[in-house]
Amino acid sequence: MSAPLRIVVLGAAGRMGRELLQAVAAHPACALHAAVARPHQELPPGTPRAASLEAALEGADVLIDFTRPETTAAAAALAASRGVALVVGTTGLTLEHHAALRAASAQVPTLWAPNMSLGVNAMLWLLQAAATALGEGFDLELTEAHHRHKADAPSGTALRMLEVLAEARGWPLDEVLCHGRQGQVGARPARQIGVQVVRGGDVAGEHTALFLGDGERLEITHRASSRAVFAQGAARAAAWIGAQPPGLYTMEQVLGLKK
Ligand code: NAD
Repeated sequence: MSAPLRIVVLGAAGRMGRELLQAVAAHPACALHAAVARPHQELPPGTPRAASLEAALEGADVLIDFTRPETTAAAAALAASRGVALVVGTTGLTLEHHAALRAASAQVPTLWAPNMSLGVNAMLWLLQAAATALGEGFDLELTEAHHRHKADAPSGTALRMLEVLAEARGWPLDEVLCHGRQGQVGARPARQIGVQVVRGGDVAGEHTALFLGDGERLEITHRASSRAVFAQGAARAAAWIGAQPPGLYTMEQVLGLKK
């Protein structure tokens, strides 16, 4: 068996960071090389903590980043310059942040996914099939719910679901997207996809796509009951990406849903 991949976890003190430390330790093809947190943040006893990202990347194979968009963009450039592959789960990225990931992918294998769970990636595949099979007689709506600390809305997963639905209909998403409704909004146009956002408590993540027809409706829901599933998906992605050439990859490829 080849040596385990040496993994760096950036944002190790965060909600996802703590899960990632455990998921990396548990994955047979991964070993935790170093963890990076802000100076004032505590990490579990025994965690190999690096003083900086630069120091952590020394001798590493893959950087896993679940932080904030500004941190992600800077970390991607640094990892690329050191030849370290990237697995990024941070959401709320702008076009500029995505450009930073694309630039990194010219030098190192790079994967970004707004949701690393197996169930969500299977759901994206189902949405495409349902939107195509049901056709335009069914109105498309989406709801999502997350814990009170979540910084971005709608979630990165919801945005990906919206893209999949719009693509299946052949609609430009920016023309059909409707964020919530209030007041005298009038009748719903057929060419629209509505999205509603709920925030509160400790909800790990819930997403529902609704296909609303006359006389019937289909609802496809994914519920995450633990953040561990995202971290396990990230560890799996790290193990997979270590063997790839430079390029931009998706979770569908890691899970074998797409070539
Ligand atoms: P969080 O706020 O609990 O954790 C983020 C951590 O990153 C914090 O501890 C923060 O201090 C740290 N951080 C930011 N910049 C840093 C830097 N320069 N150096 C060191 N540490 C730094 O947030 P969270 O709930 O863990 O979520 C993090 C991101 O992951 C969010 O964008 C969230 O939407 C996303 N997320 C993605 C998935 C997925 O499957 N792709 C799943 C869950 C969450």
